[in-house]
Amino acid sequence: MIVSIVLCFLMSLVITFFVLAGNGFSLVSVFYGIFLLALYSGMTFSEARKKGSGSVFRRIFLITFAVLFCISFIGSLFDERGSMAITSEAMAGSELPFCHIVIPQVLLPFLITNSIIFPARVSGHYASIASMLGIWLMFTLTIGRGWCGWVCFYGGWDEAFSRAAKKKRVNLLSRNREIRDFQFGFLFFIVLACIGTMSAVYCSWFCPFKLVTEFSPMTTIEGLIAGVVFIGLFLGLAVVLPFLTKRRTQCSSLCPFGAFASLTDRVSIFKMGIDTEKCIGCLKCANACPFGAIDIATIRQKKTSPELTCAKCGECISVCPAHAISYQFRFAAKCKIPEPSSGFEKGIRSFLDPANLFRFAAFSFGTVMSGNFAVDSISRILGSL
Ligand code: SF4
Ligand code: SF4
Repeated sequence: MIVSIVLCFLMSLVITFFVLAGNGFSLVSVFYGIFLLALYSGMTFSEARKKGSGSVFRRIFLITFAVLFCISFIGSLFDERGSMAITSEAMAGSELPFCHIVIPQVLLPFLITNSIIFPARVSGHYASIASMLGIWLMFTLTIGRGWCGWVCFYGGWDEAFSRAAKKKRVNLLSRNREIRDFQFGFLFFIVLACIGTMSAVYCSWFCPFKLVTEFSPMTTIEGLIAGVVFIGLFLGLAVVLPFLTKRRTQCSSLCPFGAFASLTDRVSIFKMGIDTEKCIGCLKCANACPFGAIDIATIRQKKTSPELTCAKCGECISVCPAHAISYQFRFAAKCKIPEPSSGFEKGIRSFLDPANLFRFAAFSFGTVMSGNFAVDSISRILGSL
């Protein structure tokens, strides 16, 4: 209980600094700050009572962030350009926002030519690119692919539609391996295509989230084809398939950043662990995983971690009847730690529990990333009432 109170207090400092102070302590920022603290407190106290029971708060945050991000982003596009379309003038003037999905596409072209193939806004230019890369480095080293499970403002759309139906209509469990292989193959293709064309191929032709952010004007044949592809991919991968399969289909099959983050996740501090001694082989975790990161083979072969694509969302913890899955430190020494000898020592141990630290870090990233967008978005909604 005391550990939960301390964690909530520390989170209130993060919220005060990044949401309230970052938005001049406006009334809307206070309102959004209270909402965030309520979610974090709900998750922390709920987890302290029963492991896995707090995952609903993660889902609420991610879905809310996705909707508010898009309202704010689209609103600012209309303010600046009067439309959601990327005009050729905006392209020529490099007035495009830098998005994390671009990162795997720009790295090799940058090393080869020393130039960024998909520039940030001219006003920020290299500073905004550097800040995005800095954020990427920070979350890669800490929460790793937990970004997809806890922070990604696009993934919230998949999350929302994957939660909309009560029951799975299509079970992709037996196809997990092929879907994962496809995602890595697609990343490879995109990286090669970007080097070959010196352009951000995924952004230009495949990103389903163009539909809820910005897209090329459909006034040319090329623009029309791209528009049809964006609409089809959004409806197929972010709406219909998540609804039918109850999994994050776009995030686990097409997103090149998701595949890239799975590879770089190997350097992150946290991982999910499976206690094979406790596991009773019921496969509930495999059926519940929205990223297809646990297979029948993972359990039968008694692997001690989910597969590479795990986004550390914690959904498997909430369904495991044997309490066999947990957050762990990736590089923890395998030595036997003596039992705590005092209440204080027990409290410190509980505070430093990897689950507590991971959730704190992941929710802090979400708080920092969502602050300005959410406050702007709520202000726009209230202003239009
Ligand atoms: S293995 Fe568990 S934590 Fe990892 S993505 Fe699947 S449900 Fe989430
Ligand atoms: S839900 Fe738990 S007990 Fe069942 S297979 Fe997964 S890890 Fe094992």
